[in-house]
Amino acid sequence: GSSRHAFKRVVLKISGESLSHGGERGISMSDLVHIAEETKQAALSGTEIAIVIGGGNILRGAQFSSGQSRVQEATAHYMGMLATVINGLALQDALESIGCETRLQTAIRMEGVAEPYIRRRARRHLEKGRIVILAAGTGSPFVTTDTAAAQRALELGADILLKATRVDGVYSDDPEKNPHAVLYDELSYNEVRQQNLRVMDSTAIAQCMEHDMPILVFNFRKSGNIARAVRGERVGTMIGS
Ligand code: UDP
Repeated sequence: GSSRHAFKRVVLKISGESLSHGGERGISMSDLVHIAEETKQAALSGTEIAIVIGGGNILRGAQFSSGQSRVQEATAHYMGMLATVINGLALQDALESIGCETRLQTAIRMEGVAEPYIRRRARRHLEKGRIVILAAGTGSPFVTTDTAAAQRALELGADILLKATRVDGVYSDDPEKNPHAVLYDELSYNEVRQQNLRVMDSTAIAQCMEHDMPILVFNFRKSGNIARAVRGERVGTMIGS
C-alpha cells in the first residue's frame, strides 16, 4: 500500500474471536499474545490507540434470542458485555507483560476491576501514550461492540476507526464460502448500506457516515497489518463518503 502519515489517534476494534483459535470458545494464550505483540508494534509509530474489545469468543447476546431461552435477551446482552470485560482484562495483562502501559475502562462500572469509562480521562491516558482498552461496549443492550467502537471513535476524536477482521477486507460476498467474491479497495458508506455488505452492524455504519468517520477494514491475522493500518498504509478496504 502507499504510505501516508501515521494517524494521530485511532480506535481499534478487536473482536473476541481474535483471542480464540479456530472458532473455539474462550481465550487462546498464543492468539492473545499475538494480538498484544501486533498492537505493541503498532504503538511504536507514536499513534494513540484506544482498543474496543469484543466478546464473541465467550458469548453473544443474540444467542439467547430464541423463544426457548429462559434467559431474557436483554440479560444475555449484559452477559455479552461482561464477556468483553473478561477479554479486556486478559488483553491488558498481555500488553503489560510486554512492556506497554495500559488502562482498562468499562462502560458498566466495576471499580474493583477497572476504571469507569470517562471520556476526558480516556483522552488524558491517550495523550500520555497509554493504550486504553475499552470494555463493556456502550453499556447498553441490543447493540454490539461495533456500535461502541463507532461511538468511541467519534467522542475520542479519532482520525479513523480500524476494524480488525479475519479476512482481508470487505468482499462482494462471503469469501469463506464464495471463492469468486471480490475484495473492494474502497467503498462509500452508501455502497455498504445499499449492497448490505457485511462490514459492521448498521447502527455503527450509520453513525460513522453521519459524522464522516472513515473506517478501515483489514485482516489482523497478517503479521504487521495493525502497524500498517496505523501508519496509514492501504491495507484492506477503506470506507468513507
Ligand atoms: N453487547 C451489548 N452492548 C454493547 C456491546 C456488546 O449488549 O454495547 C453485547 C452483545 O450481546 C454482543 C456481546 O456483548 O453480542 C459481545 O460483543 P460483540 O458481539 O460485539 O463481540 P465481537 O463480535 O466483537 O467479538
